[in-house]
Amino acid sequence: MSGGWTLVVHGGAGIIERERLGADGEQAIRTALGAALEAGAAVLRAGGAALDAAEAAVVVLEDDPNFNAGRGSVFTFDGTIEMDAAVMDGRDRSAGAVTRVTGTRNPVRLARRVKEASSHVLLSCDGADAFAREHGLEEAGADWFATDERRRQLDEMRARGDAHFDTEMKYGTVGAVARDAAGHVAAATSTGGITGKRWGRVGDSPLIGGGTYADDRTGAVSATGSGEFFIRAVAAHQVCARVRYLGEDVVGAAQATIDDVGALGGTGGVIVVGREGEGAWAFNSSGMYRGRVSAGSAPVVAIFGDE
Ligand code: ASP
Repeated sequence: MSGGWTLVVHGGAGIIERERLGADGEQAIRTALGAALEAGAAVLRAGGAALDAAEAAVVVLEDDPNFNAGRGSVFTFDGTIEMDAAVMDGRDRSAGAVTRVTGTRNPVRLARRVKEASSHVLLSCDGADAFAREHGLEEAGADWFATDERRRQLDEMRARGDAHFDTEMKYGTVGAVARDAAGHVAAATSTGGITGKRWGRVGDSPLIGGGTYADDRTGAVSATGSGEFFIRAVAAHQVCARVRYLGEDVVGAAQATIDDVGALGGTGGVIVVGREGEGAWAFNSSGMYRGRVSAGSAPVVAIFGDE
């Protein structure tokens, strides 16, 4: 994959196994990843910008209740839903992000608006939702975001008395990275975080350099997994730094970064697009919902580690 446009998406990483997912669940995920790829590819095919494509792909997954972002986000310990998102444009490394938003239908659109209509990078909580309202973004109530399955997962987790990470249930964060025909790259990530999160916990997804990064000199990255470890490894930026300073290719840089996250004890994955349009992914969990498409090649969607 090189030269033309490329789009890579993810829908989260974790303990993803055939028996657990079931045939219907698997089909729903594959269909949704395909729809996200098509939404972004339509932008790129028409000569659109990488950031528009990444945003379009993420919006599809935010609106799909099967993913832990927007509708279908996981519940906090207190039974609320608090969402995080970020975007970054590799052209000028401009970025926008939001954390702990509760009333904006598409947090990725809000992150984009922060990038474009404020002089800030990261807005939080009520202030971020107020900014969304001021800018006319679509609002949504708790009923829109909440699903029975996520509530069941919270109940199960509480019944087990889990204190922190629930590696089985937290997957479903979404992200997209794109390289457009003009050679620019962009990244977008959106998540509900991890089931049962407390105390205003914020993960890597909305942190520029942690879960999201883009730089035309190297490429664009979106991460998913146990966020605390991705923050400590500065994972998304690490991929780009490896390309820039060590001369690694994006496949090697993605793998080395996941190895580094793994060495700290973290699990998850990254998707990457390089400045020439090379697409890559790497993960150390049993699966990662993922897909890629580029000019002249058919879309590919995969879920399990052995695909
Ligand atoms: N990285 C996200 C977080 O820690 C969760 C995930 O990707 O599954 O909030």
